[in-house]
Amino acid sequence: MPNIFANNFKTTPFWHEHVTVPPLTNTPIPKQSDICIIGAGFTGLTTALHLLRAGKSVTIFDAQKLGDGASGKNGGMIGPSLHKLGLDGLTSIYGANKAHAILQEGINAIEYFKNFIAKENIQCDLAMTGRFRGVNNQQELDNLARDCEKLSILKGFQYNLIQHQDVQSEIGSTNYHAGVTYGLDGGLDPQKLLIALTQKILNLGGQIFDQTQVTDIQKQPNNHRITTPKGSLTAGQVVIATNGYSKKFGKPFLAHFYNRVMPITSAMIATQELPTELITRLFPKARMHGGNHRLVQYYRPSPDGKRVLFGARGVDFHDRANKNAQNLKTLLNKIFPELTQSKITHSWSGKVAYTFDHVPHLGQHDGLYYAMGYCGSGVTRSLYLAKKLSMQILGEENFQTEFNSLNFQTKPFYNGTPWFLPFIIKWHGFLDRISQ
Ligand SMILES: Cc1cc2nc3c(=O)[nH]c(=O)nc-3n(C[C@H](O)[C@H](O)[C@H](O)COP(=O)(O)OP(=O)(O)OC[C@H]3O[C@@H](n4cnc5c(N)ncnc54)[C@H](O)[C@@H]3O)c2cc1C
Repeated sequence: MPNIFANNFKTTPFWHEHVTVPPLTNTPIPKQSDICIIGAGFTGLTTALHLLRAGKSVTIFDAQKLGDGASGKNGGMIGPSLHKLGLDGLTSIYGANKAHAILQEGINAIEYFKNFIAKENIQCDLAMTGRFRGVNNQQELDNLARDCEKLSILKGFQYNLIQHQDVQSEIGSTNYHAGVTYGLDGGLDPQKLLIALTQKILNLGGQIFDQTQVTDIQKQPNNHRITTPKGSLTAGQVVIATNGYSKKFGKPFLAHFYNRVMPITSAMIATQELPTELITRLFPKARMHGGNHRLVQYYRPSPDGKRVLFGARGVDFHDRANKNAQNLKTLLNKIFPELTQSKITHSWSGKVAYTFDHVPHLGQHDGLYYAMGYCGSGVTRSLYLAKKLSMQILGEENFQTEFNSLNFQTKPFYNGTPWFLPFIIKWHGFLDRISQ
């Protein structure tokens, strides 16, 4: 394989290039806090923000450097996440009414998210440009058309079928026979959002300790004792916001949670800066893109319109920047042969958390509050569910979501490491190859 790496190739996220993390709390760990939050991603930070506004004292711990969880590394693609399991898939598990309500909640989440960003005046390059999903043949288009027709019962759902002759108006690629566009989707810069939330928390007196792993939580009669290598703290309430990193940093005390989510590596690359004219040809409407592969592929122009950002499954459980880059570049070249000669400047990966029933979960278990399991679509849903979780903690009404009542299930012999995934990934990869 030719050298795909630019001279200045980095194994850190493209998003971290142009955003500076503000100085975080550097005082000793306080002895006591009303609330302790474990995990400083979107879930933890947004929950903190609402609790601080309600007058609570909040201390947040993260095992990694701020921005090194999924929230600072993702594709920044937002939408109501309707096409994961679809109406039929959800109906087969939950029945028609619940399936409908779950999907409607996805649309509510995106509406909530847009209003939140506007109200908080967060500058994160949010652009609701829509999403294009390509298909390989007429039969796939007919199936997709049927699915969209069914989804039309959802209030606010917007889609548009793109016939073969119109594909080039959506994407400068001959890879797809036809497709559909979704009107409620868009993109943003996730690290800018993360830093904006961080700054608001610090301004409100919230304390954020990064590179500080929580190593134990002990339940006491009236509170919890949280242990870190830098000291312990007593908190009235604890929020578990550890998502795909629950086992990596929470063994064994977060077993209840990591036995219910499957951490999966999602990897991304950024190309070198490309001519504006080329980006405009490849992405005429600056939309977000995701094909119809079983092994998810997602891609988009960077918010400044200079690069292509491309994501897919990592090659295995580990953060293998070089191997991932080679794999992702091959997939990217297939969609855009014009990019074959372009070099990769960044390759990075992070952990998403899948659940066994394909939907996120939140609530309270054994005195601990939690929200997690966004199944790879967590940008909007984490902010929305964090708001609901904070309402529950504050004893407010209307905190219930369609997800609260669902059983957060595990499976026999599952211990937080999805040993079976390599087999499934191989099988799905094979199915993808023969259907292209
Ligand atoms: C490469 C990639 C691309 C993605 N693309 C998209 C996308 O385009 N659109 C979308 O909607 N979603 C996307 N996602 C998913 C999305 O990023 C996540 O669903 C979302 O960020 C989850 O936020 P979170 O706060 O729950 O978890 P995270 O942001 O992962 O934060 C959890 C934090 O908990 C910390 N932690 C865990 N255990 C401990 C402990 N014991 N002590 C202290 N800290 C601990 C971890 O260090 C971590 O920082 C993507 C994810 C990845 C990795």
